[in-house]
Amino acid sequence: MICLAGVLIAAAANSPAAAQIQVQVLRGRIEAAAAQAPQPAETGLFVTEGGLRHTVTGDEYTMGQLHDRRLAGRLWELHGTPGPGGRFLVDKLFTIKDRQRFRVTYFCVVCNIRTHAPGRCMCCQDETELEELPEKP
Ligand SMILES: [Zn+2]
Repeated sequence: MICLAGVLIAAAANSPAAAQIQVQVLRGRIEAAAAQAPQPAETGLFVTEGGLRHTVTGDEYTMGQLHDRRLAGRLWELHGTPGPGGRFLVDKLFTIKDRQRFRVTYFCVVCNIRTHAPGRCMCCQDETELEELPEKP
C-alpha cells in the first residue's frame, strides 16, 4: 500500500504540466556590430535594457526581422525559451514604439501578400514594404 502511494506521487511529478518551460520575455536591442554581420545570420547578440547579453536565435523570419537594417537600433520585445548552448530561442518578437508592441510585416502592394520575412515578394519577386502593425493589447 505504501509502495503504491510512492508510484502515484512520482507519476504526478513527471506530468507535462510540471515539465512545462516558462516563456521568458527580453526587452532590449540587437548589438550594433552584430546587426552589420553578413546576412543571413543564424544568431544575434541581444543586449537587454538591464545590460544583460544574450545570444538569440530563431527561425528565418525571426532572424530576418532582427537583422533588418531598417530596424537597426530599435527596441525589441522577445518572447522565448532558453535553448541549447545557452542561446535564447525566440518564439515571438515585437518592436516597441511609445510603449506599444508592433508586429513586423512585409507587404507586397502588387499581389496584396503579407509575409514576416524581409526580401522579395514570393509571387511577383518585387521588393516588399516594411510595415509595423500595432498589436492589440
Ligand atoms: Zn508581389
